[in-house]
Amino acid sequence: MPCEVKLRFVVLYGSQKGQAESLAEGIAEVAEEHGLVAELSCLSHNEKYNLEKETAPVVFIVSTTGDGEPPDNALQFVKRIKQKTLSTDHYKHLCYALLALGDTNYANFCNCGKTIERRLQELGAKQFYATGYADDGVGLEVVVDPWIDGLWQAIKGALSKMASDKADFLKGEAEASPKETPDSSIPHIQLNLLRITDHQNCESIKASAETVSKFSTAASSSAPATQTAGSDLRPALPTGISVLASQSQGTASVSTSAPKTETGNAGVPQVSLASSLTCSLPPLSESPLNVPALPPAYLEVSLQEEDSVELIVGVLNKETLHAAPLSRAIQLTKGDSVKMAVLLELDMSAHPMVTYHPGDSFDVFCPNKATEVEDVLHRLGLHDQRNHQVHISLLKDTKKKGAQVPSYMSQNISLLYLLTWCLEIRSVPKKVFVRALVEHTGDGVQKRRLQELCSRQGNADYNQYVRDCSLSVLELLTAFPSCSPPLSLLIEHLPKLQPRPYSAASSCLRHPGKLHFVFNVVEFPACSGRPAGRRGLCTGWLFDLINPVLFFPEKDESSSSPALPKIHVSLRPNCSFRPPSDLSAPFIMVGPGTGVAPFIGFLQQREQERKEKPEAVFGETWLFFGCRHRDGDYLFREELEGFVSSGTLSQLKVCFSRDDQEEEEEEEEEATTSAARPRYVQHNLRLNSQHVTDILLKHNGYFYVCGDAKNMAKDVNNTLMEMIQAELQVDQLEAMKTLAGLREEKRYLQDIWG
Ligand code: FAD
Repeated sequence: MPCEVKLRFVVLYGSQKGQAESLAEGIAEVAEEHGLVAELSCLSHNEKYNLEKETAPVVFIVSTTGDGEPPDNALQFVKRIKQKTLSTDHYKHLCYALLALGDTNYANFCNCGKTIERRLQELGAKQFYATGYADDGVGLEVVVDPWIDGLWQAIKGALSKMASDKADFLKGEAEASPKETPDSSIPHIQLNLLRITDHQNCESIKASAETVSKFSTAASSSAPATQTAGSDLRPALPTGISVLASQSQGTASVSTSAPKTETGNAGVPQVSLASSLTCSLPPLSESPLNVPALPPAYLEVSLQEEDSVELIVGVLNKETLHAAPLSRAIQLTKGDSVKMAVLLELDMSAHPMVTYHPGDSFDVFCPNKATEVEDVLHRLGLHDQRNHQVHISLLKDTKKKGAQVPSYMSQNISLLYLLTWCLEIRSVPKKVFVRALVEHTGDGVQKRRLQELCSRQGNADYNQYVRDCSLSVLELLTAFPSCSPPLSLLIEHLPKLQPRPYSAASSCLRHPGKLHFVFNVVEFPACSGRPAGRRGLCTGWLFDLINPVLFFPEKDESSSSPALPKIHVSLRPNCSFRPPSDLSAPFIMVGPGTGVAPFIGFLQQREQERKEKPEAVFGETWLFFGCRHRDGDYLFREELEGFVSSGTLSQLKVCFSRDDQEEEEEEEEEATTSAARPRYVQHNLRLNSQHVTDILLKHNGYFYVCGDAKNMAKDVNNTLMEMIQAELQVDQLEAMKTLAGLREEKRYLQDIWG
């Protein structure tokens, strides 16, 4: 029997929050099961790969961050391949596939992936598998799972194609064969690949195909569609990343389900029970499951009792981090508002080197909640060792490809410090983490439910009970009491605790030595697995911190001045989201809710400039603001009206989504037919369509949007597109091009979050 030859391919990832990285790792880990060897590398480790000479297929997995930017560890790579000096055949030898991760709630969906793809093609590289564009807004797995399913055959096809090309070439037949012309090679590779691999069907693929088809009927009723319109994917193929859960075949009878919903002859349900985080219903509870492969462990963690454990802000970059005392905290909303908004003032006078501009943001470093850290310690059975020093090293015989001790884990930290400042213990456990937790769960029923949640068949349940309600790991562990993971597993799977950015809501010109920012206290409602609601991590922490010094203008309470706490911040400059440098350029700002924050900075700066340069010509300024109630959450009302009085703000357009609604409802009874009042910022934009489009299209003006990424930014974008369409009398495509042009010229700028 000939010895098995494993064929190599390369996996390169660019990842900001670890999603692309973990997908790349997952692919590399299961490659062997497909008779392949993956060479995994981060795009920033350019000493580990060499695309200029690469002859094996290359798989790129890249996310997009911010306003369409590459993740930090892909920046240099993108810069390199964008060099204009590279020739159009620079990557002629390269065969690639690309999975782009993005979020359609943000502008420039999958921009980094698209940029890489465009450049690869411009430089002559050939695509061997259709690009996947996965949308975190609806769930990455909708695209990722089938894309990975099809990848294995595609890689084998590409390898076969490359081998036969090489053989043809060696035989001197390359030129003679018309199918070998470069222009026809992309579709050719894709067509060939299915045919070749079908013939070559190796045993493991065959087995896995049978497994899936055998159970496909059972799974199909609960599994969501594996293809998204427009995602240009092949039909789902036998999976390589999924394996049949060994327990599943025998567990159709071991059920975590609520009693079955019986249907009588007439088909009328006799018992109707809902599923929950811990409890499933048929068909899922009776379905065989495809669960992800168990991720290999890769860290060895030990705790040692040591006297001097550094407990200062060790893992945070000390040079760019500034401890700033809070000097003021004002509640901007009235007591009964749905969302509480608070303005904080930081005293930056001890940090004169930190100069910020309107449009910049600040990262706020917050710790995990002390009670939750305690709970995790108890849950891990490590409470007594909380002050012990943590030693982390790579597991010697780990099977994980490219395993590394997370770079943000510094030495000399205590367990308490690690859980408080290093790991995002609130993060939503990914499916692969849930899969790993299965191995540490004693109770069979709980084990089965965890398998369901990480399985393909359990996608809908995972989305409903874990992802959509932002269930934290701790909440999951609480719901599954027999699950006792080791500390190492948490360190392997929990991401780094990230600072939270907030837009500066002040100008240094107006408030020298001070920095203002505004935040909404985020509230997570109770859900299955979370008996009581909780606040967002950073906003909850800030709220607790400032509660004793909070100033309520409406109650005319003066701030008692107990010792003011300090918080750690670092500057996040935003070089494009700035007021136009040409003072005569008109600009429009759209900032409902806390999205108004940077525009307060813009306007404070403009006011000072007007005082300092009375002879200068200043362009028009428009602000579109919106909130629920005029009397509840009209943030910065007095200051905004003051800007209008002073002429700093030419037009202030405000709308109230709920006041107007109530008034309209009353009016409806009177059967009035008056035109609908503007409820949201986009309605007001439309009412001022002529002015807005004139400013943008005739007067070289600027358009800024800040705030909620989920709905508002999209609605504003669509409205703007329609307005341009109507104004220029063009079709949608042309209007989109005009908008894209404005973006390119940095005259349509967004700073959005959510
Ligand atoms: P977490 O515990 O991290 O939970 C956040 C999760 O809650 C999100 O995943 C989301 O699904 C959900 N969520 C529900 N409501 C909101 C909401 N209103 N905002 C964010 N997430 C929400 N926030 C401000 O309030 N004011 C600002 O000026 C501001 N400026 C920002 C500037 C930038 C460049 C960016 C990227 C974000 C900005 N944010 C701002 C958002 C802020 O950084 C935090 O995400 C937000 O305060 C929630 O943090 P948290 O730790 O309390 O919530």
